[in-house]
Amino acid sequence: VLTDKLKDPTLATDKSLVGNAWLATSQSGKSFEVTNPATGEVIAVLPDLNKAEVTKAIDAAHSAQKTWGKKTGKERAAVLRKLNDLMVANADDLATILTMEMGKPWAEARGEILYGASYVEWFAEEAKRVYGDTIPGHQPDKRIMVIKQPVGVVGAITPWNFPNAMLARKVAPALAVGCAMVSKPAAQTPLSALALALLAERAGLPASLFSVLTSTDAAMVGQEFCANDKVRKLTFTGSTNVGRILMRQGADQIMKLGLELGGNAPFIVFDDADLDAAVEGAMISKYRNAGQTCVCANRLYVQSGIYDAFAKKLAEKVSQLKVGDGFAEGVTTGPLIDANAIKKVKEHVVDAVSKGAKVALGGSGADAGELFFQPTILTGVTTDMKVAIEETFGPVAPLFKFETEEEVIEMANATEFGLASYFYSKDIAKIFRVAEALEYGMVGVNTGLISTEVAPFGGIKQSGLGREGSKYGIDDYTEIKYICLGGI
Ligand code: ADP
Repeated sequence: VLTDKLKDPTLATDKSLVGNAWLATSQSGKSFEVTNPATGEVIAVLPDLNKAEVTKAIDAAHSAQKTWGKKTGKERAAVLRKLNDLMVANADDLATILTMEMGKPWAEARGEILYGASYVEWFAEEAKRVYGDTIPGHQPDKRIMVIKQPVGVVGAITPWNFPNAMLARKVAPALAVGCAMVSKPAAQTPLSALALALLAERAGLPASLFSVLTSTDAAMVGQEFCANDKVRKLTFTGSTNVGRILMRQGADQIMKLGLELGGNAPFIVFDDADLDAAVEGAMISKYRNAGQTCVCANRLYVQSGIYDAFAKKLAEKVSQLKVGDGFAEGVTTGPLIDANAIKKVKEHVVDAVSKGAKVALGGSGADAGELFFQPTILTGVTTDMKVAIEETFGPVAPLFKFETEEEVIEMANATEFGLASYFYSKDIAKIFRVAEALEYGMVGVNTGLISTEVAPFGGIKQSGLGREGSKYGIDDYTEIKYICLGGI
């Protein structure tokens, strides 16, 4: 494993964590490479675990959880607090590992580490506040109590676009309430997850409560999570298609599911918007992480009176973005994750142009390398184009023109997705009307950045089930138990 850029080289490991054991090789003898998408360089070779090893991690988690679940909230909080501190103290190295395996600009990677740590801090605090209820009895001799208990062993499958934060916001609430977690990070980005587990160990987390399984066979791991009845909940962040597969598989054991799936976020700019603020919001919401977030603006709807001014100003800003290796000075846009990602983005642009869209800026691959794409703006976009229907997951902003509020709400809601949405307006009555009419789990009004550990993140429709972060984020990891006391 490459460690030359790290202050603490031990944070990058090429071993997988199965229960209490760090494994350098898998039983099958198979392994796989992790590469830097900016350079193609191999940064680590990791064991490719088999089914028996997944089962072993689940068994270990199952027995460790029995003790962990009985600890007080305060005891569990102390470990999470320490983990937060270690993440913050090692933020530079964690960011370096993240940029190495995923490609995002180093400063953005460091931002992700602090964002991930904020969930750990938040759930450390919440660990002490898993409150129940007392309910007046329904008969004179009865008393009713409601308690919340950990669900038990939680399986987690996480994506490559936020290799640290997507796992941090699952493992933190799980551990806070007394669950154990067996996780499977994306095969492109396992090193950030392993580094998080190393720090959890250093924070004093008892063995076997947090496994990190490295494997290229995600389907096998997903099947074992769903089939093994020691796993009581599955939490997944990724595509809607895989979410659907997991939901079907989980049906046999009525699996509790947390699903953070795809989005197709509308970003609406009304004529009365503050133009500069709207452009700034679009920059953050569209181009952050090279457009590879599930809350990225995917369709930009701009009202006809402000359309040309918005397109011009956005182009000015976007032309200042710098594409390149995430470690290079001043780079704002890194590579896309892999060949499939770049293929999809190119397909979307070609499809739009063939149906009459104009390339106002960018439009093709960038000189920095095979996986880089120029920040792009498309104008004259219509609803029959792929960019209107599918998540592009790249730095491409398609600008649709609209006339009325009713029309744009209808277009914005005409999708099976319902994760994030954004709009810009200064009219207070319109703000309430539109915020309530948008069929989305999250609405940003006059802002392009909505993610925070203190608010509930999640989607409606086919964007998922459950919420992450905030006081609501705890509920997904607990079961409600009602106790009826009679004979009083
Ligand atoms: P993305 O487009 O972000 O790669 P995926 O849904 O394909 O979205 O991947 C998200 C995570 O789901 C990754 O960790 C991947 O390995 C995993 N995954 C992919 N296919 C399956 C599957 N059939 N069952 C379980 N997990 C899967």
